[in-house]
Amino acid sequence: MTGSGTVRPFFRPLFAVILIALAGALFFRSLPREAPIERRGFMMGTAVSIRALADEETLEAAFGLLHSLDETLSAHLETSEIGRVNAEAGSPTRLSPQTASLLAEALAWAERTDGAFDPTLRPLTRLWSGDGQNHRPPTEEAVARGLGDIGWKRVRLDGDSLLLEAAMGLDLGGIAKGHAADETARLLRERHVASALIDLGGNIVVIGGRPDGGPWRIGIQDPRKPRGECLGVVEVRDLSVVSSGNYERFFEWEGRRYGHIVDPATGCPADSDLSGVTVLSERSLDGDALATALFVMGREKASALAGELEKEGFAFILAGDDGTLYASPSLEGVFRLESKEYRLEER
Ligand code: AMP
Ligand code: MG
Repeated sequence: MTGSGTVRPFFRPLFAVILIALAGALFFRSLPREAPIERRGFMMGTAVSIRALADEETLEAAFGLLHSLDETLSAHLETSEIGRVNAEAGSPTRLSPQTASLLAEALAWAERTDGAFDPTLRPLTRLWSGDGQNHRPPTEEAVARGLGDIGWKRVRLDGDSLLLEAAMGLDLGGIAKGHAADETARLLRERHVASALIDLGGNIVVIGGRPDGGPWRIGIQDPRKPRGECLGVVEVRDLSVVSSGNYERFFEWEGRRYGHIVDPATGCPADSDLSGVTVLSERSLDGDALATALFVMGREKASALAGELEKEGFAFILAGDDGTLYASPSLEGVFRLESKEYRLEER
């Protein structure tokens, strides 16, 4: 009796400590994750990655969504919705509501950019995309024929009903990654993810700030330098940052570089006096269409349109091929130029 009476006071605090430790462990397990997880893959013809304060299941769902958007919107896949629509050109067809609304957005940007962005370039992008090995430029005749089969004004879209003239074809490659990034961000937000960086080959959307609370820091690729060398940095929260330029994808033939962005006016890869364009916007779909279009337009026209769009909340970084750099006034304190090879200029 006396023995047990002397042991008890020693074990009581020990029990209490164990109980507190168990309760603490349960409490911390129920708190949101502190460390982000990252997943990488290759989709939509580009490297994709998502870094988020989320669980594996959420990232799995996000990659599933990206995969299904790729399988729907790819112009290269005969089995995609776009592949089917292109094969049916010449007869009326019906689009899924999501694709119909994406095409409507693409046509609206075609109008706003005076056709520099054109979602009907498939007859030309098919010629220029380096599908085969030892890729070489198409003949002038082939380009002239291709030019005869494009034109966003010729698309008949009425709700979900679409009519493309025979030989025409859609290529939503200039807007699909932006749309996919928006949809991925929507999925993550629905699952209460408060911090994420979605990168679809330079089409970036960030949710919230970094896990440590600061803004996300996004390097802007120097278009004239090897991949990974940045000309500067933007610091952002809850925003889309999209960059475009011929440094992304191209092939070389007899010492000339042929980029993947086609000028609908010439039918050939855009010969731009801009080397890179970055657009900051709420929706990545808008930034994606615009980055492609402004590159095609070249510095003078791009600057004029940028001036109009700045009043609607868009911001731009336009890198000239001569080392001049324009950054929207709203980027003061957001964008920091780090390269000494660029001079900041007023518009
Ligand atoms: P991005 O990588 O967003 O600049 O878009 C380039 C992709 O969009 C190309 O690979 C083509 O699939 C398509 N594309 C090329 N030129 C244009 C253009 N002028 N307007 C719309 N889409 C284009
Ligand atoms: Mg684009």
